[in-house]
Amino acid sequence: EFVRLVKENGILCDVDLLKEEEGISVKKSGCHGFCEAGPLVRIEPYNYLYLRVKLEDCEDIFNSTILKGEPIERLMYKDSDKIYKTQEEIPFYQKQTRLVLENCGHMDAENIQEYIGRGGYMALSKVLSSNAMEPKEVCKLIQDSGLKGRGGGGYLAGKKWSQVLSQDNPTKYVVCNGDEGDPGAFMDRSIMEGDPHKIIEGMIIAGYATGAHSGYIYVRAEYPLAVERLKIAINQAEGVGLLGKNILNSGFDFDLRINKGAGAFVCGEGSALTASIEGERGMPRVKPPRTVEQGLFGCPTVLNNVETFANVPLIINIGADEYKKYGTKDSPGTKAFALTGNVVNTGLIEVPMGTTIRQVIFDIGGGIPDGKKFKAVQIGGPSGGCLTFDEKHLDIPLSFDSLKKVGAMIGSGGMVVMNEDTCMVEVARFFMNFTQRESCGKCIPCREGTKRMLEILEKIINGSGTLEDLSLLKEIADTVKNTSLCGLGKTAANPILSTLEYFYDEYLAHVVDKK
Ligand code: SF4
Repeated sequence: EFVRLVKENGILCDVDLLKEEEGISVKKSGCHGFCEAGPLVRIEPYNYLYLRVKLEDCEDIFNSTILKGEPIERLMYKDSDKIYKTQEEIPFYQKQTRLVLENCGHMDAENIQEYIGRGGYMALSKVLSSNAMEPKEVCKLIQDSGLKGRGGGGYLAGKKWSQVLSQDNPTKYVVCNGDEGDPGAFMDRSIMEGDPHKIIEGMIIAGYATGAHSGYIYVRAEYPLAVERLKIAINQAEGVGLLGKNILNSGFDFDLRINKGAGAFVCGEGSALTASIEGERGMPRVKPPRTVEQGLFGCPTVLNNVETFANVPLIINIGADEYKKYGTKDSPGTKAFALTGNVVNTGLIEVPMGTTIRQVIFDIGGGIPDGKKFKAVQIGGPSGGCLTFDEKHLDIPLSFDSLKKVGAMIGSGGMVVMNEDTCMVEVARFFMNFTQRESCGKCIPCREGTKRMLEILEKIINGSGTLEDLSLLKEIADTVKNTSLCGLGKTAANPILSTLEYFYDEYLAHVVDKK
């Protein structure tokens, strides 16, 4: 019966209750994070994690593990001679600190009771219960925690909330940016798919703290499962009185809607995102006024990304001082990264801020496959920079300030590892091609500059580039960086500037080879 259901449903996680009467169930969960080793099956209460499971393994899993509790060693993680039976022992997980991702892969994301059973909505209850915290106390607590926006800007979330609270306008909004568009990034997607209630809880708390009664989650339409699970979660929360009128009998009202984005990268920028929700073309506007003053529909708006809101229940539950024990002084807490490229253990990870790039790539990521040498890492998506293999760079702690000092950005958390075979000029061209296509065209430096930079990179790669082209490339990159209107243009040249700085020899080789 087990195998029949699996075959009928194609994949394991689409099987609902299998044998409820015997206490055996198969649950739909979100991403476990260890993408490299998927499909994954976690068996509780033993915490066995089976890797690369195939249909033909299912009968054995049922007969040996589910019925008798016996582990199947051939499906477990092995390192030399050692077999790691439980998920928590596997080095990939053991070296992480999963706070925001704690529920992902461990519960049925479509069942609010499971979220509540794991302590979900406790923070909301703490804020709204009879000993309710005042809105300004909630803003202060978030500010004291030092939580910085995880979307890339690194602005203090609590400060933003306080600024919205102080606005006189009776209509305010909370907006969650789930328009994750960086190539190689899937942190927000995994949280939306694996733990949607955590985001909803964080947004309701933000609404209470700032005096907003409506919220929007802006999700890219390319994430249909995230949209589906968020819809289910919103319906369930409304059904048990956690969304809508008079939440938990507190007198506080808050409603939540989903808005699907059409895949424009620029809509991750705050003012373009709010324009898109309003039904306008998603284009950034000149600031001020800032979003906290005049955001969605011209009203004060709290705009944070998925991971930022997902940190909020934790901070309310454990307090600012406890939260600050994770991470660094200037960047408290943890950060989720999508670890991809030439690395043994690709996947979704979460580490305390301040963890070094070396620890992420070699301890958690398992190093570079096939005995190749590490060459570079690209951090922060198209807006980030490429950091070279260098003792100094590998030991840089991952935090907002430390990466800024070396011309890179933490961005939303994409991390692409490259081996010795990677051509860095080609990498710069790849990212420039992306940003050029995604430029909204509103301002000349970005609209024209990205085109010209892409042309020069293609000329260099085609072998017809000159030394003058390299100087021109640098000059245009600096101009676009300094004069573009929004973050997309201001950071579009980062991959070029950083590769010119750290891999100039490779540019020269393309030019010199031709000669
Ligand atoms: Fe549009 Fe680029 Fe200007 Fe931003 S910098 S407004 S994306 S043209």
